Amino acid sequence: MAAIFVYITHKNGEADDTAFELASAAKAIDAAAAPSAIVLGSSADVEQVASQVAPYYSEVITASHDALQYPNAEVQRKVLASLLPAKALLLLNHDSFSMDLAPGLSIVLDAAFASDVVAFEGIQDDTLQLARQEHGGAVSSRSTCSLENGAIISVRAGSFKAPEAGAQGAVVDKSADLGDLSSKRQFVEVIAAEVGDVDITKSEILVAVGRGIEEEDNLDLVHELATAMGADVACSRPVVDAKWLEKSRQVGTSGQTVSPKVYLALGISGSFQHIGGIKGSPFIVAVNKNKNAPIFQAADVGIVADILDFIPVLTEKINASK
Ligand SMILES: Cc1cc2nc3c(=O)[nH]c(=O)nc-3n(C[C@H](O)[C@H](O)[C@H](O)COP(=O)(O)OP(=O)(O)OC[C@H]3O[C@@H](n4cnc5c(N)ncnc54)[C@H](O)[C@@H]3O)c2cc1C
Repeated sequence: MAAIFVYITHKNGEADDTAFELASAAKAIDAAAAPSAIVLGSSADVEQVASQVAPYYSEVITASHDALQYPNAEVQRKVLASLLPAKALLLLNHDSFSMDLAPGLSIVLDAAFASDVVAFEGIQDDTLQLARQEHGGAVSSRSTCSLENGAIISVRAGSFKAPEAGAQGAVVDKSADLGDLSSKRQFVEVIAAEVGDVDITKSEILVAVGRGIEEEDNLDLVHELATAMGADVACSRPVVDAKWLEKSRQVGTSGQTVSPKVYLALGISGSFQHIGGIKGSPFIVAVNKNKNAPIFQAADVGIVADILDFIPVLTEKINASK
């Protein structure tokens, strides 16, 4: 079995939830695996993040350099190509950055590539069986991935539960061996997301609405429910694109990252770009009229219903119980 490595996603010195989830994903591939983590970034961030993930990995390989301070797939790809041994299996979080980084890395290493994987279902003759999501999560499929030359696999956030912390893995610094990290891409600036009248990143309960709400006027139902629940209103991107709610309420990879205690998703399909903005394992309740909607895979409770019927009834019940 190939050695398994995990590329650690982190921001502002904090390891992403997926940094821990992917340790479980490695064990789902091979229960006997002793996966290694790879942490790239500025020296201050790398040191802090390495200590956070070390209890989950047998070894943490770190590399710090000014050129690694901001996400630049061209630079990160060069470093990974030099750090990974032949025929390695690399797991990374399926997000916008890995979609930039991973396909090119698989070409450089002549390794297989699979994206948006939600489950591993065994290995037969050096071939990994896996379940994937396609077309933005609308279709689930079973695929195989050859491990003969190694593989680069991106895994959907939330597909695996983080394991219990174990013994502290050794931290091995490779910053001295990075070679030429010049890049055609240049970092310009970080543009912070706007904060509107409500900062949904601080909300404990979020009522999030998607395209399933159908019309702007129907948002009144959502606001009434949120008031009854003492929640704030969030949304998926199409609701912002339609200018029904402000951008500061958008959850997802190009919106806000939220970590409420409860997340009520109403008429949201559950694309990885949306789910990628929900962190900290909130209790997710999803209501959708399509029983096959991908959001149900991430939800703790799934309700198949028309939200236009469901929301007023729930609001009435909550108000009546007060
Ligand atoms: C680079 C990039 C970045 C992106 N960033 C984000 C992001 O940050 N956040 C984000 O949300 N998306 C983002 N997207 C868009 C994302 O891919 C999806 O298109 C989007 O999340 C879908 O939103 P939705 O679930 O509301 O709509 P849809 O996918 O259209 O789903 C609507 C759902 O509502 C259900 N429904 C319809 N009517 C009803 C009803 N009456 N009752 C109950 N259920 C009903 C349907 O069954 C369906 O599941 C991004 C896309 C790209 C390419």
